[in-house]
Amino acid sequence: MNKFSFTGSPILYLVGTPIGNLEDISLRALRILKEVKKIYCEDTRTSSVLLKYYDITTPLESYHNYNEEEKAQAIIDFIKAGNDVALISDAGNPIISDPGFKLVDLAIKNDIAITTIPGPSAFTSAFETANMPFPFLFYGFLKPKQQERENELAELKYIKGSLIFYEAPHRLLDTLNSIIKVLGDRDVYLARELTKKFEEHYYMKASELLTKANLKGEMVLIVKGYEEDLLEEQDRFKLIEEQIKLGLKTNAAIKEVANMLKLDKKELYKEYVAYKTQQE
Ligand code: SAM
Repeated sequence: MNKFSFTGSPILYLVGTPIGNLEDISLRALRILKEVKKIYCEDTRTSSVLLKYYDITTPLESYHNYNEEEKAQAIIDFIKAGNDVALISDAGNPIISDPGFKLVDLAIKNDIAITTIPGPSAFTSAFETANMPFPFLFYGFLKPKQQERENELAELKYIKGSLIFYEAPHRLLDTLNSIIKVLGDRDVYLARELTKKFEEHYYMKASELLTKANLKGEMVLIVKGYEEDLLEEQDRFKLIEEQIKLGLKTNAAIKEVANMLKLDKKELYKEYVAYKTQQE
């Protein structure tokens, strides 16, 4: 068990910063960024724009995905020497699809006090305007390679909550195609350039959004959860199980039911495997 106290010990602050509009930062965040001994960030050029805007002169140092391992230990040593530090990312909250995981892990293992200075995150902001049902599952970025991405989506297919993804503009078209292929042509919502000058919100079917897939900028994509009438589907699975009880092997039972209901055998096989996995 790890337990830490805030009295007198140095603190690692995880500070939320704007996702576009520089005014979206708390008074406490600004005070802490002024008071700490050092601020760790992803790209010092990006973060110095924010610090300059608020006349913050605290030393800034980089901490990103490709130096996270070695840098985390050095930061822990710096904190242990009695220094408060802040971790920020290029936008939004650290850790949320951004570096910081390793640092928090090491801080906990070293009994270092950690606290958060809450700020905006692109996915919570997008969910507010999305008009999508609860619960939601925040997934972050899907894998860039098609097969890996589609495997990830297949795992998410039967989740009834809204699915929230971060996406890079140059991959939107591929991602939408994979979504239609694996999840079906569902209702989607796209938040583009939140809090910025060219902010836009799209509410439509995935296939319709495909026609706008040359969109630029930063975007959050939210896909409505699984909605098919589960009873109807479970009836199919019941039929398969009945065939198995009658002595057929699983594959043959699926083939039999697929023929019976004029369904695609491969699709039914995939659905049945996913259903069984969910039951385990
Ligand atoms: N840590 C950030 C947070 O708390 O939201 C997310 C960082 S992640 C590396 C960057 C992704 O967040 C972008 O590719 C985009 O999907 C999303 N994003 C960031 N800012 C956004 C904005 N202003 N509007 C829409 N999406 C945004």
